[in-house]
Amino acid sequence: MIEGYDAVKYYRPTNLDDALKLLAGDPDARCISGGASLVAMMNADLVQPSALVSLKAIAELQGIRSFPDGLIVGAMTKHQIVANDSRFTGGLEVIRSAAANIGHPAIRAVGTIGGSISLADPSADYPAALVAAEARIEIASHRGRRFVPAHEFFITYYTTALEPDEMVVAVHLAAPPGASVSAYRKVGRTEGDFATASVAFCGAFSGGQCTFARVAVGGCGDTPVRSAEANALLVGASPNSASVARAAEALVGACDPVDDVRGSADYRRLLVRRLLPRVFAQASQKAAN
Ligand SMILES: Cc1cc2nc3c(=O)[nH]c(=O)nc-3n(C[C@H](O)[C@H](O)[C@H](O)COP(=O)(O)OP(=O)(O)OC[C@H]3O[C@@H](n4cnc5c(N)ncnc54)[C@H](O)[C@@H]3O)c2cc1C
Repeated sequence: MIEGYDAVKYYRPTNLDDALKLLAGDPDARCISGGASLVAMMNADLVQPSALVSLKAIAELQGIRSFPDGLIVGAMTKHQIVANDSRFTGGLEVIRSAAANIGHPAIRAVGTIGGSISLADPSADYPAALVAAEARIEIASHRGRRFVPAHEFFITYYTTALEPDEMVVAVHLAAPPGASVSAYRKVGRTEGDFATASVAFCGAFSGGQCTFARVAVGGCGDTPVRSAEANALLVGASPNSASVARAAEALVGACDPVDDVRGSADYRRLLVRRLLPRVFAQASQKAAN
């Protein structure tokens, strides 16, 4: 080692227990999934981990498992795997759609769901979709396992409910009530950019009218934005109802967007007003087919 420089240790455990022991033994160690963001952050000196714990060789973290009551997505599942998996149907299609909207093919081939949500960029695609789908995040440490609802997992900008010795193991998606539908729309500055604003919708329709609705907005606050008022206004609505515009206003009222390189706060509010009717109509159309 060159004098005056600290070497970053690199571990590649083959089971979860060993990975959790490594994290417990060093508060400055970090998991590395695809490295899509972490390596760039290290290059920019934004983080200086003492050790990297690669999750690549841990079988438990890989892939998507079906259960009668839903899907479990392992933390190391890459965006392209989710984007191409036909099991994400109905109310869970929103997850597949969010994955397909992430970056461009090279990013989707490297980035993982565990890495994306642990980074907790509020303009990322998964967070709003997972909140709308009422996902639960499975977290492990050497102290045991716990589950956190997606809307409680995201605390603020780049901050999650994870303690330093914890890692995301999987995302649990319960199959929403029968005949549910979902849709996701994002507006970014360019193809492959993070969202200036995004809206995720999960719900159901009967006779053209919405019977339940869960909406979440990305890119318009420090965490995915929810509004119980907007959800309530959508129930009983059809795509042309005036209450859809009222729901969009309620959603805009719950947002706290910033002015940044991706757009002004006012532009983001405008996007939410435009995107909610679109995802609602898209979901309604899916229900009718
Ligand atoms: C050019 C570019 C464009 C992008 N565009 C988009 C976009 O449009 N939309 C979008 O949503 N995302 C976008 N991303 C983000 C990308 O999709 C990745 O999801 C994200 O960078 C995380 O990458 P990763 O999975 O390789 O995690 P890493 O980079 O390996 O890790 C990211 C962070 O999460 C921690 N971590 C990783 N795995 C776990 C775990 N299981 N448990 C606990 N902590 C963990 C790491 O310690 C690190 O702090 C883009 C990234 C790049 C580089």
